[in-house]
Amino acid sequence: MVRRALPERTCVGCRRRAPASELLRIVAVGDGAGHSLRPDPTRRLPGRGANMHPDPACFALAVRRRAFGRALRVTGVVDHGVLAEHVDAPTTTSGHPDRARVASKVGRPT
Ligand SMILES: [Zn+2]
Repeated sequence: MVRRALPERTCVGCRRRAPASELLRIVAVGDGAGHSLRPDPTRRLPGRGANMHPDPACFALAVRRRAFGRALRVTGVVDHGVLAEHVDAPTTTSGHPDRARVASKVGRPT
């Protein structure tokens, strides 16, 4: 079986290999306070990237093993809020996933 020119990447969640096109690229964006993870669906953002299935299960696995920090060479606090929304994973920051998800979609009332 010859499947050339199809770059494979390892998912930081389940550790399975998959064609890069099936995985979501993730980069860490730093600000003064720390880093936050950003999905990069177009794979165009500069810097180191991690790859993950766009799947809440893989996301949860990666978070549990702190795989993002390792893959992206980031130490300290890493905020996964934006990424959690992107893969539709329940967020752990508010005790109420459903409400957090709705609030993030409609925006915060003033
Ligand atoms: Zn995976």
